[in-house]
Amino acid sequence: MKQIVLLGSTGSIGNSVLDIVTKCPEQFSILGLAARRSDEKLEAQIRMFRPQCVALADSDAAQRLRARIDDPAIHILDGPNGVTDVATHPESDLVISAIVGGAGLVPTLAAIRAGRQVALANKEPMVMAGQLMQEEARRQGMSIFPIDSEHSAIFQSLVGHRREDISRIILTASGGPFWDCSQDVMERATPEQALQHPNWEMGSKITIDSATLMNKGLEVIEAHWLFECPPAQLDVVIHRESVVHSLVEYCDGSVIAQLGLPDMRTPISYAMNYPERVPLDLPRLELWKFGTLTFEQPDHGRFPCLKLAYESLERGGTCPAILNGANEVAVDAFLNHGLPFGDIACVIDHTLQCASIQPLVSLEDALEADRWARDTTSAFIHSVAS
Ligand code: MG
Repeated sequence: MKQIVLLGSTGSIGNSVLDIVTKCPEQFSILGLAARRSDEKLEAQIRMFRPQCVALADSDAAQRLRARIDDPAIHILDGPNGVTDVATHPESDLVISAIVGGAGLVPTLAAIRAGRQVALANKEPMVMAGQLMQEEARRQGMSIFPIDSEHSAIFQSLVGHRREDISRIILTASGGPFWDCSQDVMERATPEQALQHPNWEMGSKITIDSATLMNKGLEVIEAHWLFECPPAQLDVVIHRESVVHSLVEYCDGSVIAQLGLPDMRTPISYAMNYPERVPLDLPRLELWKFGTLTFEQPDHGRFPCLKLAYESLERGGTCPAILNGANEVAVDAFLNHGLPFGDIACVIDHTLQCASIQPLVSLEDALEADRWARDTTSAFIHSVAS
């Protein structure tokens, strides 16, 4: 029986993990859960899965939860330190990190440092501090299991192959809801329109990132660190159907890909059971139902966020952390109707132009870069709006 700690349990990935745990009660039990502030959802999960410890990053939400869960066997922790305490619980077999955004960095890195096996569903910690995450994982003799569908596909396409034989990693991108729209329509898109992803059901932050293609940019950076692949060997291809989840090209020209219907339970289950596979009762891929699979080149003119991510990776140091912090603030402003969709990339670009890039040596370097990027981006958005 694997003891699971799930960080970000009330989000979209969290729900899928718990669905797998429900389907496989002999294989998994829930040891710890953590969420940001959804105390009612967390309460329902506690009653269903009976974890030893839970944490809410928001202390007021934790207070409300304590008032309703009167069970001395369940420890209710609060604040960022409480989340980190759950993440580093010494009895876990697997920590699934699915917290949205940069907030996942501190607890995820702490889990790796504590020698816990980590499966990573949120890409932001890798974007902000991939070098530190990998150094720490190597020190622990552990490899981080990817859950992001593209990285899971790459991970699966690497099995049985030598890293030195890779010539290229090709990430697929759906193109998001605006791929076929005119520039004009896209620039004026509302949050409601941008939240309509054609293939995947995901949380709001990642859905907006998919619409700007920043999600693919962040995934390129994530892939760089996870698979130790130089930026020049990381490519993106637009694949509207989201059936081919990513590909690895080897030095002899062979290309190995992983395919499947777009359902996050498949990559989640692979990470939870690695190196085994367990039967999952999910709809199967019938290629004839698709008939045609299409592939196109990314359009950097209409989707500048992807280019900004490549540039940030090349600049290195704290630049990807700055990119990520600026993006989170810009996406938040857009979702709150405080920034037009067409200005998301401009705002991030402005922050990157102002940035002084430092070497990334410690966690504090990444957190400081993140804070600076958030402050600078917020101030810029306010100055433009007023
Ligand atoms: Mg992905």
